[in-house]
Amino acid sequence: MTTKRNPEPVDVVIVGAGAGGATAAKVLTEAGLKVVGLERGPWLKPEHASGDELKYLNRNFIWQDPKLKPRTYRQNDQEEAVITNFSATPQVVGGGTTHWGGMVPRMAESDFKLRSLHGDVPGASLVDWPITYDELEPYYTRVEWEFGTSGLAGANKWEAWRSRGYPTKPSPLSQIGRTFATAMAKMGHSTFPMPQGMVTEPYRGREPFSENGFWQQYPDPGTGKSSTLISFIPDAIATGRYDLRSDCYVSEILVGSDGRATGVRYQDEDGDEFVQYAEAVIVCGGGIETPRLLLMSTSSLFPDGLGNGSGMVGKNATFHQYSFSVGLFDKEIHDPLYGWAGHYMSLCSFDFYETDESRGHILGSLIFPSMIGHPINWSFPGRPSWGPAAKDADRDFFNHSMKIGMLLHDMPVESNRVDLDPNVKDAWGLPVARITHTPHANDFAHERWQVAKNGEILEAAGASKVIPVNMERITGNTSHELGTARMGDDPSTSVVDRWCRSHEVPNLYVFDASFFPTATGINPALTIMANAWRCADRILQVDRHDWKKR
Ligand SMILES: Cc1cc2nc3c(=O)[nH]c(=O)nc-3n(C[C@H](O)[C@H](O)[C@H](O)COP(=O)(O)OP(=O)(O)OC[C@H]3O[C@@H](n4cnc5c(N)ncnc54)[C@H](O)[C@@H]3O)c2cc1C
Repeated sequence: MTTKRNPEPVDVVIVGAGAGGATAAKVLTEAGLKVVGLERGPWLKPEHASGDELKYLNRNFIWQDPKLKPRTYRQNDQEEAVITNFSATPQVVGGGTTHWGGMVPRMAESDFKLRSLHGDVPGASLVDWPITYDELEPYYTRVEWEFGTSGLAGANKWEAWRSRGYPTKPSPLSQIGRTFATAMAKMGHSTFPMPQGMVTEPYRGREPFSENGFWQQYPDPGTGKSSTLISFIPDAIATGRYDLRSDCYVSEILVGSDGRATGVRYQDEDGDEFVQYAEAVIVCGGGIETPRLLLMSTSSLFPDGLGNGSGMVGKNATFHQYSFSVGLFDKEIHDPLYGWAGHYMSLCSFDFYETDESRGHILGSLIFPSMIGHPINWSFPGRPSWGPAAKDADRDFFNHSMKIGMLLHDMPVESNRVDLDPNVKDAWGLPVARITHTPHANDFAHERWQVAKNGEILEAAGASKVIPVNMERITGNTSHELGTARMGDDPSTSVVDRWCRSHEVPNLYVFDASFFPTATGINPALTIMANAWRCADRILQVDRHDWKKR
């Protein structure tokens, strides 16, 4: 490793170029700030995209290779943590949005005030968000239009007010969506087109999405699927003020003797080490890597990690476990035109989202149907995995099955956390993130109830057999890593303020999924991007003038 000349200082350095980081880069550069983005992963080009399931799902092309970038997991402090690929999220330019499912629902108004609604739930650390839906709404709308989305305004009867509809019409209904809609209507429930990060009509020079199964877990060789890679990053680069460096791994945030952040230390792909100085640092490494980086950034002023005087960095981690019921059908339920609809979700329901205490739990989740899985990796409990029996199962079940899933609206619990593993290091010799997590009793009650309900819907749809697939523990199977740098007004119980600025370091910000004060029961990326835009606006209006005054 050599140290070469450090690059020129800039206004802002952003760690990570995923959902939060790329949004901030777009907003700040379009307003005239000079920004350097440091992304540890590669910059994939359209020619890297394909439907190669083995490459994408089995050979760690997009997931962290656990030999190079391990994480460890344990259920509680008494257990020894074991190496896993917990919450594998693509580490590439575009971050998790590059290979995602693209579901972009808005939060419900109730999500912002769970503490007011439910009080002090024993064993949980429920709080209200310091902001309201009304404050976020203008930014939801901006992201929906700038990012490129599809949906039908007003179709979700539970959604709060919106100032504008979607830029493109809803995505086409798959055969599985139709099956779900019929069953839900039979049971007196409502459904609506899944708001999607895709454009379904020509939009701002982009071609519409062409229906295919290689959706979730695959990047799009075209421009129909929205990601920050094809929308916000090109916007920021077009300003000439976004210097995005891929394959650059940030290992430390540096602070001066005045307690302000001065920049970051990073290694490029050749192992050369640099310091990028900046007026401000925005951390957007994701809900696991961000607390890890803060905890690794120790100094005499911040011996327990940067911005961690309250000890709250990494705590209250939630992970939205995905659980489901599988329905097996006697007849094929696949669209003859689109044989393999893959993980493309066209319809969903909010009918079980709001709390109904007669169910025996509080909170609820978005539910949505999908195919059972990818052709090689599909599975359900008891499916033979090898030989003629596996082939028989492929033939008998693959085109005869669907599942209805849910996202666990998990309770924040202070002891559920991300910290540094004292024993395990990554290939760069740095301590890895250790996840300690035990689900709250409400999580189990909510999950069991919803999976059973999803089974009833499958029966109403005509399934001859229903297999519930319940969680035993959290596995990080949604890559929704939330809450580890909690946003709040009280510095003793949160890490960042209502503008996602560190309570302790005035020019340090966290704009990724870590800021969520509570989990919600929906996919988080639209909210991450809307919030990043809101907080970047605050930098432009207020904070940047303070930096210059010093
Ligand atoms: C298969 C899949 C499907 C998904 N489907 C959906 C969906 O349908 N809807 C939805 O809302 N969400 C979905 N998600 C989740 C969504 O992608 C994430 O919640 C979202 O991308 C998180 O945004 P973020 O800004 O917090 O972090 P990310 O988008 O993960 O970006 C963080 C970036 O920071 C980089 N980084 C981390 N540490 C460092 C470091 N030290 N130095 C330099 N760079 C660093 C990482 O490489 C990464 O690129 C899905 C995720 C996956 C994996």
